Amino acid sequence: MGKINKNNWKHQLESGISSTEQLRKAFAHVNIKKSEKFYQEINKIAKLFPLKISPYTFKQCLKSKAIYKQFVPDKNELVNFKGTNDPLKEDSRKPMKKLIHMYPDRVLLLVTDICFSSCRFCTRKRIKKAYQKISQKELNDACKYIAKNTQIKDVIISGGDPLILDDSELNIILTKIRNIKSVKIIRIGTRAPFSCPDRITDQLVNLLKRFKPLYVNVHLNHPDEVTPEVFECLRKLSDAGIVLGSQSVLLKGVNDSSDIIKKLFYKCVEASVRPYYLYQCDEVLGTEHFWTDYQAIFKIMKALIGNVSGLAVPNFVFDCKGGQGKVRVVPDFCKNKNKKSITLKTFKNKLYTYRNTGGME
Ligand code: SF4
Repeated sequence: MGKINKNNWKHQLESGISSTEQLRKAFAHVNIKKSEKFYQEINKIAKLFPLKISPYTFKQCLKSKAIYKQFVPDKNELVNFKGTNDPLKEDSRKPMKKLIHMYPDRVLLLVTDICFSSCRFCTRKRIKKAYQKISQKELNDACKYIAKNTQIKDVIISGGDPLILDDSELNIILTKIRNIKSVKIIRIGTRAPFSCPDRITDQLVNLLKRFKPLYVNVHLNHPDEVTPEVFECLRKLSDAGIVLGSQSVLLKGVNDSSDIIKKLFYKCVEASVRPYYLYQCDEVLGTEHFWTDYQAIFKIMKALIGNVSGLAVPNFVFDCKGGQGKVRVVPDFCKNKNKKSITLKTFKNKLYTYRNTGGME
């Protein structure tokens, strides 16, 4: 595998593809010819939505169709209007610019607006990338809000991708949050282990280690993303005692099959990442071509539950439009229930009845 280069991650961040011309050059460099129409469409899309592909991600796009579809803009983005800019109504749940307070005990701290690579289905596709990082004042204000609202126990550091920040910037953020007595859980949501494995340097791992218990949720959607480099990054974080979970999105034409999802989650478990959430794709403007029928997620759940290790089975989640929150779904295994007994269907389609022994009335 390629060695992690501690200076290369900045290059990955700064020299990625972020314009039609850069994409044209990148394809020409590997002798891939695209039509003029293709580039005209890309040009229009780039005016509407963020375009950013790190050199590492672009390399993976050339090796895997499933990765290509997630990062290279598609003409469907110009004609898909069923979604909305902010389906989860995050912008209306902001007590201040960089903080989303949707659930009673959790907040999302938005520390930057950029990622190493922009996913075409991103829930925050609406955010124009201004290459901004949270300011000292915004961070202090957010920490004051969190400290004052003592019911907040869980802070999720998000963005954009928090790992585009320098170690020193992350250190300040993590220290300030860790110093808030009422906060018990700190999580980081990132796609960096896939979109820029070079970012997972020994220095970064040593820094994160100091804030244990620290939970890192890695965004992974397809087994092709777990390359040897990515695998090594994940193991490195895990060996340092960082608790890893995965968050994945079900995407039509990318991973909407039981076999792909099974392979992905087995790979995650092998890399010490516990599958945490598999999301139904959010109804974001310009992403309709990724949406699956709701039956797909149930079909996948049925194929997983009982048939693969429970460690490789995540929670299946719909994030309800309008900011109504997440709903976990499971196939209905209950065939019948009354006051005295419940009859369940096992994963082998056999019936099992449990009878109450006590006097439940
Ligand atoms: S890494 Fe996450 S925040 Fe960044 S573009 Fe992808 S889905 Fe959006």
